[in-house]
Amino acid sequence: MRSHLLNGTTAESYRRSVTEGVERVADKLASVRGPFTGTTPAELAPVIDAVDLDRPLGDVSAALEELEDVYLRDAVYFHHPRYLGHLNCPVVIPAVVGEAVLSAVNSSLDTWDQSAGGTLIERRLIDWTAGRAGFGPAADGVFTSGGSQSNLQALLLARQEAKTDDLSKLRIFSSECSHFSVQKSAGLLGLGAGAVVSVPVDAEKRMRATALAAELAACRAEGLVPMAIVATAGTTDFGSIDPLPEIAELADEYGTWMHVDAAYGCGLLASPTRRHLLDGVERADSVTVDFHKSFFQPVSSSALLVRDGATLRHATYHADYLNPLRTVAEKIPNQVDKSLQTTRRFDALKLWMTLRVMGADGVGGLFDEVCDLARQGHALLAADSRYEVVVEPSLSTLVYRYVPAGDADPEAVDRANLHARKALFASGEAVVAGTRVDGRQYLKFTLLNPETTAADIAAVLDLIAGHAEQYLGENLVHA
Ligand SMILES: *Cc1c(COP(=O)(O)O)cnc(C)c1O
Repeated sequence: MRSHLLNGTTAESYRRSVTEGVERVADKLASVRGPFTGTTPAELAPVIDAVDLDRPLGDVSAALEELEDVYLRDAVYFHHPRYLGHLNCPVVIPAVVGEAVLSAVNSSLDTWDQSAGGTLIERRLIDWTAGRAGFGPAADGVFTSGGSQSNLQALLLARQEAKTDDLSKLRIFSSECSHFSVQKSAGLLGLGAGAVVSVPVDAEKRMRATALAAELAACRAEGLVPMAIVATAGTTDFGSIDPLPEIAELADEYGTWMHVDAAYGCGLLASPTRRHLLDGVERADSVTVDFHKSFFQPVSSSALLVRDGATLRHATYHADYLNPLRTVAEKIPNQVDKSLQTTRRFDALKLWMTLRVMGADGVGGLFDEVCDLARQGHALLAADSRYEVVVEPSLSTLVYRYVPAGDADPEAVDRANLHARKALFASGEAVVAGTRVDGRQYLKFTLLNPETTAADIAAVLDLIAGHAEQYLGENLVHA
């Protein structure tokens, strides 16, 4: 069994095994005909249950052969141009190489003595990203597992900065289109059930600054404490960007922590043409960035940035076995002092490889391409009488619904749209997402693949209309 340990003696076996795995994936990427096969949990679960985990196959080739049946054949492939579902991106090759390197070396970024250069590379990338956000030299941050984790940490810092022991008084303001991790974080941080105040949005799905102002005034009048304003720069559904400068003004006026959730919109930081859409972000106290969304990085890769690095002390604890207090005086860089996680992946290496190979313009240009594609998709939808589209895209999502000609029962139209989404998924021809707007069922394209074309969008719209029409036709017959 020692032969399976990765070390100096097994280096050759490592080379062969990993190459075999890479070759299988490469063959798969080149041959998949749709983003999905349409398999169901009922079909796939018995295949996976049939594997006897107590009877190992003994070698990598056999396990890879089996993996074809239990995973690779029926995986959902984000690189396919007709995957238009959630906020998942195809990944860039330099980042995948970084992933292979970081898992083999297996550095852990909690302390210098488990990572050495890895810690310094992560710090450079935090500084680079903070610089792009317009933060000054006091800025800092840390890589995290994802946007939810970054938002949680941001709100932890905001809670500590609010300097009140009465958690029941704290309020967080975020738009009605903000991510659900804001709610979850408030719960985890011990705030009360009504702690998150949902601020209405305008027709473009951006937080209404006037409504925020009114909510803040009401909060103060009631003797409550405005702990944080969460502005979303790229809402999950619409890609809408809240008015950052106006929100920053209000945050200043009320002495409130301003957090910008740019989990999705962070790609703008590298965009050669659209960086201005994030103007005002430099006034935030903290920013969430998900490189695994708009920087084409493999999951996971996210970071929390803070304008004032000193605020990260709220996440600092010292342990004799890990990061004793003396290491601070000795100026040993231990990232665990800034993190909620302890053992932590060297995800930063993927972004490092990406920037060293492609540069910021290279990766930002890819995000620009999908934002341009969304504009084309919007034009297609707006010109198509079969569809109704909600807003013009700020980034790369489109929310729309099929509407039949003539009068139709709104419930039936909801069901037809839901049916179309499910039927498309089951066919494996394309994957789209869905959401509800004003109580009605809508469909969503999240465009993060520069290989997707307007022709792909048009073809998927035809498929959806076909499924929806068929559903409504059958339902009339049965009615
Ligand atoms: C995706 C998303 C998150 C959560 O990020 P994860 O990486 O999935 O944890 C938070 N906020 C917004 C706006 C998002 O789109």
